[in-house]
Amino acid sequence: MITDEISQDFPLLARQMELIYLDNAATTQKPHAVLAAEQEWYEADNANPARGLYDLSERASAAYEDARAAVAAFLGARAGELVFTRGATESLNLLAASVARAGLTKDDTVIVSRSSHHANFLPWRQVARDTEARLVAFEPDEHGQLTAEALAKIIDTRCKIVAVEAVSNVLGVVNDIASLAQVAHAAGARLVVDAAQLVGHRPVDFAASGADALVFSGHKMYGPMGIGGVLIRAGWQERLPVWQQGGEMIETVSWEQVTYKTGPAKWEAGTVNAAGAVGLAAATAYMRQLSWPAMVAREQELSDYLLAGLARVAGVAIVGTPEAGRRHGLVSFNIEGVHAHDVAAVLASEQIGVRAGHHCAAPLHQYLRIPASVRVSLSFYNSIGQIDKLLDVLASVRVRLGYDV
Ligand code: PMP
Repeated sequence: MITDEISQDFPLLARQMELIYLDNAATTQKPHAVLAAEQEWYEADNANPARGLYDLSERASAAYEDARAAVAAFLGARAGELVFTRGATESLNLLAASVARAGLTKDDTVIVSRSSHHANFLPWRQVARDTEARLVAFEPDEHGQLTAEALAKIIDTRCKIVAVEAVSNVLGVVNDIASLAQVAHAAGARLVVDAAQLVGHRPVDFAASGADALVFSGHKMYGPMGIGGVLIRAGWQERLPVWQQGGEMIETVSWEQVTYKTGPAKWEAGTVNAAGAVGLAAATAYMRQLSWPAMVAREQELSDYLLAGLARVAGVAIVGTPEAGRRHGLVSFNIEGVHAHDVAAVLASEQIGVRAGHHCAAPLHQYLRIPASVRVSLSFYNSIGQIDKLLDVLASVRVRLGYDV
């Protein structure tokens, strides 16, 4: 069972006891184990992986590949399926650029969810423009869910890619990836899943998911910034051309001809973020030791408490379904008559950190006809006491701003 003491594992939280950090969807705090692993890498193993033949360099290569194996296993994938990148954004840019180079044409369709983060929307929009492929919006239903039924209505055999999020960073709703994969595959399309908001909150089993590619960011799963990845299913990986070029991603190079490595290495141009990968592997070890049942139960308890509390605050309108069962600990809302930025400013004055704005999902906010929203996003290291404080301040926002006297 996870208790409030868990926050002591996180040096920033332990130092800043007055801070109520409720912006975990933007980035999570890092446990001591992750910081120590990164430091140890630089003190004991730092050399450029996959280059030298001396002991230190071989140790660096081994540490990097061990990290790949650990992170892949944590996500239910094989090491050969995990390409390390800077994070979800780079992963989606890699996929979109590579799919386009593999041969996207004006006769093809790309389906992207309306509830996508810009990191998913913009790269596909760009390649659709460049190749004249048709870009089709996949609308979430009234609960904020992307359903197989809705996908079946807009897909046909011209569709090459369906790109969706596992959990929207605004709606907090968990989508059923397996059912979306069935519909995409029946039409002959590939399913790309942005799992940036799922990793670190729910177990991911890439092998069983049905996704052809799945992207994530390490910094949203208690790992360092600047490291993340894309899992690309064997069979598709070989058919996708390389993206960035340079460094050790080649097999042979001459002035006339280049051949590339196979597997993840062909995607990892230039010097890799080995310290980040080692730190991320430490984050997965930390979570393994906490265990999924404990992390999920704690976040569910906090999330249920938050939703029930928000329902009691006058004027709160939740974005997406208020039903606790369909979502995890990420809730966006507005307070009637108050701009989201004003709500966030009042919360900030009480040391409560939340996000306000369109959360890099502007098309979704336009679709919902709201200018912005306030987002509270939880981690297992938050507490009931922190949520009580949040709810107290929210209940006083309109009075504090002078709307109600
Ligand atoms: N997708 C989703 C759903 C996200 O929430 C985010 C981060 N806000 C991203 C992609 C982009 O992640 P990163 O900035 O780490 O590349």
